[in-house]
Amino acid sequence: MAKYDFDLFTIGAGSGGVAGSRRAGSYGAKVAIAESVRVGGTCVLRGCVPKKLLVYASEFARAFDDAEGYGWTVGDTKVDWAKMVETKDRELDRLNGIYLNLLKNSGVQLFEGRARLVDPHTVEVAGTRVTSETIMIATGGRPQRPPIPGIDLTMTSDEVLDMKEVPKHLVIVGGGYIAVEFAGIFRNLGSEITQIVRADDVLRGFDPDIRASLGEEMKKQGIQLKARTNVTAVEKAASGFVVVTDSRERIACDRVLYATGRAPNSGGLGLEEVGVTLNKAGAVAVDEWSRATVPNIYAVGDVTNRINLTPVAIAESRAVAETLYNSNPIRMDHDNVPSAVFSQPSIGSVGLSEDVAAGIYGEIDVYVTRFKPMKNTLSGRDERTMMKLVVDAKTDRVLGCHMVGPDAPEIIQGLAIAVKCGATKRQFDQTVGIHPSAAEEFVTLRDKRKEPAKQAAD
Ligand code: FAD
Repeated sequence: MAKYDFDLFTIGAGSGGVAGSRRAGSYGAKVAIAESVRVGGTCVLRGCVPKKLLVYASEFARAFDDAEGYGWTVGDTKVDWAKMVETKDRELDRLNGIYLNLLKNSGVQLFEGRARLVDPHTVEVAGTRVTSETIMIATGGRPQRPPIPGIDLTMTSDEVLDMKEVPKHLVIVGGGYIAVEFAGIFRNLGSEITQIVRADDVLRGFDPDIRASLGEEMKKQGIQLKARTNVTAVEKAASGFVVVTDSRERIACDRVLYATGRAPNSGGLGLEEVGVTLNKAGAVAVDEWSRATVPNIYAVGDVTNRINLTPVAIAESRAVAETLYNSNPIRMDHDNVPSAVFSQPSIGSVGLSEDVAAGIYGEIDVYVTRFKPMKNTLSGRDERTMMKLVVDAKTDRVLGCHMVGPDAPEIIQGLAIAVKCGATKRQFDQTVGIHPSAAEEFVTLRDKRKEPAKQAAD
């Protein structure tokens, strides 16, 4: 008789949990998974997917504006928000159904309910206890808000997706990717937007030219960016809310969205009780194999707070399944993970930002171009694209590719392969462009940016 009920028990059926469990099942492992809310997790139900659907919905406003320059007569347009939310929810239900089927078809047994560890090999879900040789924690993360007075009056990214109407004036607190994405969505849908950012600019951690370019474009669209500002309280008003800042400004608005980061879902799981170490941020501490401090317990995805993106969670969990059940040891490689921001204009980025590259490599060459995309010539849209390459001056290797502009995520995905392969600037130059496209600029960048000091002297 088998020593345990299962070979693998996964807690959390989101991006990472589902992918790794299915992969393990495909190699013949006996697998179970627990989910406390709905199978699919953050990305499918409260993150990437609904967010991108709203981005698509909001982009029509730009298309209607641009069309006139191309000879179209566009009549009155308006968005039926309730209908949009309903069709979005229908799509999420469909995806939830697909995920349930995927689990069923790969023989993964689903336990519905909140799971917790009783000991390193025993999990309890909704009063049932089962044992497993290996346990994989894939419980993701949740929105985090500071404990200021009135914080309960605000929304997080979870609630913003289900608002009953488009707010006339939305205050967004935070400067990360989720904050700028929702700023773009609701600005296009007609909201007045005030975005409050603690730092000097949006998107801390991204390349400085990305930060500056997006900030500039957001301001041109009428988004009021308040940098170096903290919110001290949120108050209920006769109609709507008032956001109070540390400069004693009082901003009246209809709704307040807090997008001030996410925290790992590591509480209430019994992790520390069974010997699993959490780091300062509350994330499960893991080694390069995603193994926690208890040898039969693994953790993947946002609960480990490494790179909190869906494809990373998927790759980490599949690496665990390959290692344990296919004699194919894989350490997840977190270098040169490309990322996108579905702001408007969008962002794509892979590799090192200029400041990080300069810190590591010392001597770097920087190539930057800013131009008006061809589509904007006839439409008259006042929006510029920025493209940038960061190159190691000694080896000529391209260390980073960054873009702000239409289709940036689609363009950077391909370049990420080149960066991952260690392509040199010379190899970029030898590549023939596709004309007419914006992407071709990445293979025709000729002029190194002058040093800032020299530039100023010119
Ligand atoms: P999750 O997908 O969060 O899944 C964890 C699951 O565990 C959840 O279903 C949860 O209910 C369940 N769970 C938690 N505790 C328990 C328990 N005790 N018992 C049972 N079940 C439990 N990433 C991108 O790559 N691209 C994007 O464009 C993007 N956009 C985003 C937009 C928003 C608004 C947000 C919030 C996130 C976005 N992300 C995006 C991030 C992405 O959603 C996460 O990185 C990804 O979902 C992480 O996967 P995961 O498997 O670690 O966790």
